[in-house]
Amino acid sequence: MPQVYNFAAGPAVLPAEVVKQVQQELTSYQKSGMSILEISHRSSLFTNLQTAAENDLRQLMQIPVDYDVLFLQGGATLQFTMTALNLAHKTGKIAFVDTGHWSQRAIQEASLLPDIKPTVIASGKESKFTALPDIPEISENFDYVHLTINNTIEGTMYHQLPVNLKHQSVVADMSSIILGYNYQVKDFDLIYAGAQKNIGPAGLTVVILKHELLKNIPDLPAMLSYPKQVKKNSTLNTPPVFAIYTAGLVFKWLLSQGGVAAMQQQNEIKAQLLYDEIANSKLYHSPVTVADRSLTNIPFVTGSKELDTEFVVRATEKGLLNLKGHRLVGGMRASLYNAMPLAGVKQLVEFMQQFEMNHEGVAK
Ligand SMILES: *Cc1c(COP(=O)(O)O)cnc(C)c1O
Repeated sequence: MPQVYNFAAGPAVLPAEVVKQVQQELTSYQKSGMSILEISHRSSLFTNLQTAAENDLRQLMQIPVDYDVLFLQGGATLQFTMTALNLAHKTGKIAFVDTGHWSQRAIQEASLLPDIKPTVIASGKESKFTALPDIPEISENFDYVHLTINNTIEGTMYHQLPVNLKHQSVVADMSSIILGYNYQVKDFDLIYAGAQKNIGPAGLTVVILKHELLKNIPDLPAMLSYPKQVKKNSTLNTPPVFAIYTAGLVFKWLLSQGGVAAMQQQNEIKAQLLYDEIANSKLYHSPVTVADRSLTNIPFVTGSKELDTEFVVRATEKGLLNLKGHRLVGGMRASLYNAMPLAGVKQLVEFMQQFEMNHEGVAK
């Protein structure tokens, strides 16, 4: 099979070594004679791998001991609801930073809940979400502030916690940047991420939350309750065994690569390569403000819809897959997650140069 590179935003590329290992042990997990797809979630085979996955994640993100780690289902989207249900019980007020599509989905979901009042305290709307908004000083009382750390569709990211959120209770959607950039867990009360971008296969959602938060949460249906999920160690019901297993393999792979700091360094090199190509070319253009540019999701356009379409078709022929931009923004988007090798980005840049040469005279 020819080498291809998968630039999809999610489900996304996994480390080749991990996929290989999954294949090798698929028919008999740890000499059990059973596939990982078949084993009981109550068996020690599973509990051991779940414990190892949690411990490795704790090591990778330096998760403080007073934080719990949950392996849930329902995707990041269910966390839009679950965070609000569990954590907005004092004032019922949640502050949102509107940075584009996923933050808006979080606002919409919270607004459907009774007794919850979402307030948008800052919005990137004026820049059409090509820049991150300044976050004002907050004097009002909110139960928490919700922040989308990396905007997968628009291609913006917060490189650090905004100054005016330093003393706030912050809930962070890290779906498309978790483990790709060295954020400090202690800056946040709760972090959540759908696994299918930078962790593993779809079906798993990682939640990391300060233990102290569990104290005053109202009684909720079990699957929606952080305290009940913590009490049962994420196995209230049958967990996504295969997704947790694969995520665990990815965590081990990340540790072998030098952890999150090494990933960040690699991600910076990969992203710079692509951003430099965009800056140096006469054809490609990035709509995103330089300071706010994402390391993991990089949108770009040629300025012509026809040319964008042709770019994606020709790239696909060369084995550079899933470069079509999100339907909301058009153009192209390259997602450069941890598992995207540098060689893939180099090949993309070479292709971009070739494509530009073939279309000389088309100005940006
Ligand atoms: C993909 C994505 C989501 C939605 O994730 P699901 O797991 O499909 O629910 C939410 N937030 C961000 C930032 C995303 O990138």
